[in-house]
Amino acid sequence: MATSEVQLEVVRTRGELRRALAAAPRPIGLVPTMGWLHEGHRSLIQRARSENATTVVTIFVNPRQFNSPEDLARYPRSEGRDLAICAEEAVDLVFAPPVDEVYPPGFDTTVSIGAVGQPLEGAARPGHFEGVATVVAILFALVGADRAYFGQKDAQQVMVVRRMAIDLALPTDVIACPTVREADGLALSSRNVHLSAAEREAAPILHRALLAARSRWAAGERSAKTLRQVMSDELALEPLAKVEYTSVADGQTLRELARVDGAALLSLAVRFGSTRLIDNEPLP
Ligand code: AMP
Repeated sequence: MATSEVQLEVVRTRGELRRALAAAPRPIGLVPTMGWLHEGHRSLIQRARSENATTVVTIFVNPRQFNSPEDLARYPRSEGRDLAICAEEAVDLVFAPPVDEVYPPGFDTTVSIGAVGQPLEGAARPGHFEGVATVVAILFALVGADRAYFGQKDAQQVMVVRRMAIDLALPTDVIACPTVREADGLALSSRNVHLSAAEREAAPILHRALLAARSRWAAGERSAKTLRQVMSDELALEPLAKVEYTSVADGQTLRELARVDGAALLSLAVRFGSTRLIDNEPLP
């Protein structure tokens, strides 16, 4: 048996986490996840590993960021599989706490989000980003990470978390990593598991709609209204796709644009049956 094989360390409590990290070599890289790990998560872990002496992955399905008990209840979970992936990726430490380790009895403090968290996902999912920011603030405090890695797939989440880290002087750099996609363009997401075969076949329409708008922009189109229409027209080709929003927003503020003159974010949210998918494409 190879003696160099190191066992993955899994801790469940705040105290165990602190003890495990007390002597950990720095810098520490943190990858916060809700589990059901896929290639997107792996890419974050690999980036963290390449830039840090210690890599910590958290697996916690955060009840505070769900909008309905049904959505929380059906969120996919498979800790055994997740831990195997973390071991394969040579993660140093996994923090997989029960809910009351993250939110102890009497928990009564939340992070309140400013303007960047209001539109798009903030409007569609009231309270979602407060839940995200609150758990991320707790994880940053517990891990004391030098860097934390987030996916561009959730572009507004990265912006909310980055703003919070700057505003609250948290000593963790927020690093955005590119969206990992299936060969047909569908962004990897834990929620994809809920798609029926027909919905899975239809789902790459999100990426096609974004690419259609990007190529119109590349051809010189600067009207945000036209670019939103390009996305809507493309999505309308797919009868299973129920569009929630298409957006062409300022890349810094996420306010809807009239004209695209600088950095912008094309984004959309689409339902397939009871499964809600989001995707985005930054411009330029
Ligand atoms: P989740 O477990 O869905 O909360 O995601 C954990 C982290 O992985 C978040 O920072 C996500 O943005 C990121 N992530 C999810 N899907 C992808 C993807 N397809 N490509 C890159 N990062 C992703």
